[in-house]
Amino acid sequence: MPGLITLSKIRFFFITEIECMIQCSIITIGNELLIGQTIDTNSAFISKTLNDAGVWVHRKVSVGDNYQDIRKALDNELSESDIVIMTGGLGPTADDITKPLLCEYFGGKLILNEEVLEHIKYLFEHVLKRKGPLLERNIRQAEVPDNCTVLFNNRGTAPGMLFLKDHKMIFSLPGVPYEMTALMTEEVVPRIKKHFQLPVILHKTLITAGAGESYVAEKVKDFENELPENIRLAYLPQHGIVRLRLTATGNEKEALQKLTEHYFNRLKENVKDILVHDEDENMEYIVGRMLKEKNLTLGTAESCTGGYIAHLITSVPGSSAYFKGSIVSYSNEIKEKVLGVKTETLKNFGAVSEQTVIEMVNGALKTLECDYTLAVSGIMGPDGGSTEKPVGTVWVAAGAMKNSELRTETKLFQFRYDRKKNIEVTAIQALNFLRSFILKNQA
Ligand code: ATP
Repeated sequence: MPGLITLSKIRFFFITEIECMIQCSIITIGNELLIGQTIDTNSAFISKTLNDAGVWVHRKVSVGDNYQDIRKALDNELSESDIVIMTGGLGPTADDITKPLLCEYFGGKLILNEEVLEHIKYLFEHVLKRKGPLLERNIRQAEVPDNCTVLFNNRGTAPGMLFLKDHKMIFSLPGVPYEMTALMTEEVVPRIKKHFQLPVILHKTLITAGAGESYVAEKVKDFENELPENIRLAYLPQHGIVRLRLTATGNEKEALQKLTEHYFNRLKENVKDILVHDEDENMEYIVGRMLKEKNLTLGTAESCTGGYIAHLITSVPGSSAYFKGSIVSYSNEIKEKVLGVKTETLKNFGAVSEQTVIEMVNGALKTLECDYTLAVSGIMGPDGGSTEKPVGTVWVAAGAMKNSELRTETKLFQFRYDRKKNIEVTAIQALNFLRSFILKNQA
């Protein structure tokens, strides 16, 4: 078939390209990372950002605030990588030793950078509103090695630095995630793109629900075996949702887009009965968009999630266009008084029951006067479970008023996690349940 010949030609071309990928190492610095006080979120962000840009992060190393350890890590990583990105140890305290170390390592000397000093003064005077002269240690933050390029840090006092050695790039960034993320996107990535010729990397993600990772893997087994070398399939399960991501690597953007689209459509076809969405979007965004497009409103009645569903919904910018509010009816008293759940219902069936969530969803429809409502009641643990209703038992109801007719649908879930994860999974699964309820009832 002529179509297939074209695809395999493209495939051969791409394989040779992958072999030339630019390699990066990340060194995160700080004792707090080694004792488990701070979780190293910096390297995750850097990896993702670089991967999107076409750089392969082949190693991550965490070291303490120790001169020899940082030096050794730098030696090791520089011997194998084209790019080294370091974070941390740039602040004004005694344990921040990265700057003098880099200065010595690359044979420079520390000089005061007037522009950085002005910025530090401005921050202290106008943003932090500190009175009096700058401390010596803050002034020293404006000192940078004379053989580096200063990466201006709009969000903090410590500037980032870029050193070049044998065509390799070595970046040193502040450890504070808020500062590091801005420097990565505004300074590091554009400079890497200018310095190296990077391959094109494309990601296409779809979301499935209602089937576990192994079941999904079984479904796409043949498809996965037929993927060309330059396209990989990743399974990303979380909160009962499985995301499937195709990552394609190549050189020619248009050809790669075509090839990726071809395999993405085939993937979609393979999972069509469990497909939720063909973009990488969180459930609260998917539901929000559906409501906004149809000019519909939503309210929630939450018992076991304590407002977490409302929190997710309102974390979406612009959610005020469709979200009216939530009644956090954690106690039976509020379920009765505010939502109108009957005392007999609670007595006969319990707070975690189908009957109760139906009355909760109806009560919310009346009180919040919205088009759709979502109600949840469950046992999140660690206590409160019984043989009949173990920890993780959750009842969910979705309701709508259609032409003065009340429609409700319910679902029983059984989760098996700890309290925190039970709450998170309940919220995501309830939103997914609401999503399919809206789809069924929108006609
Ligand atoms: P500062 O100017 O604030 O001193 P710095 O460059 O010296 O910045 P650190 O002192 O290492 O950075 O860390 C500052 C803050 O950033 C700390 O709260 C630290 O826990 C956090 N942090 C450092 N490294 C990481 C990391 N890899 N992931 C997440 N947070 C980090």
